[in-house]
Amino acid sequence: MNRKLLMALFSIMLMSVLAACGGSDKAGDDSETPADAGGEKDVYTVATDNGYVPFEYIDEDSGELVGFDIDLITAVAEEAGVEIEFETLDFDGIVAGIGSGRFDIAIAGMTITEERQESIDFTQPYYEAGLILAVKEGNDDIKSIEDVEGKTVATRTGSTSQEYLTANTEAKIEAFPGIIEAYQNVLAGRADAVLYDLPNVQFYSETEADNELKTVGEKLTGEDYGIAFPKGSELRDDFDEALTTLKENGTYDDIYKEWFGEAPKEK
Ligand code: GLN
Repeated sequence: MNRKLLMALFSIMLMSVLAACGGSDKAGDDSETPADAGGEKDVYTVATDNGYVPFEYIDEDSGELVGFDIDLITAVAEEAGVEIEFETLDFDGIVAGIGSGRFDIAIAGMTITEERQESIDFTQPYYEAGLILAVKEGNDDIKSIEDVEGKTVATRTGSTSQEYLTANTEAKIEAFPGIIEAYQNVLAGRADAVLYDLPNVQFYSETEADNELKTVGEKLTGEDYGIAFPKGSELRDDFDEALTTLKENGTYDDIYKEWFGEAPKEK
């Protein structure tokens, strides 16, 4: 009987230990304040996009999430000593979700903008992009952003390109949840042009569109990508520091070369 009692006591103790362990995760999920309010987590969720070549996309052969951002955040998290897991969703959902603290971290070719900085904390820039207009090969009507008045210009919902078109042009803007839909509309002749981040337009055109998407005019803006966190996140400084280390020790250059073929001009 004594033995039985002991066993019973032991299982109660074990159960409370397990409950306490599970509890730390739950506390994080339920917490009202964003990011890390429940203390350190075992695994942090990284929100990312699944259709933004070559930064984050699903590799057709392997079915895996791959890309420059994926390799970079994996290396940065490792350097910072933090476990991560990915969750993919539409870009506007990522921006909203990181701002509200639904995710711990986001990396999605996300441009650092003043407006986003009101609800999001970013690391230092890790990639310099910019917006470019593109049309279907053979379209000689549109030679630059000056020519889009009254034309249908496709882009992505919640992107800096959508904002640029709204603020600076008289184009008919068609915004899609995924940028690939925007490109497909241009290639199918349903939209006259697309405005998006230069590296994405180029990579998509080369790898997915037989170079049928032709960039026109000058790069319109400078856009710095940053790793994003909810405002006040304690992870930001650790990740920023880890990013600095990787820029200094050559890891960043290696990842960059792997995806873009040459070392970055500046970091
Ligand atoms: N750089 C753009 C932005 O931040 C687009 C990013 C994306 O589509 N993943 O709005």
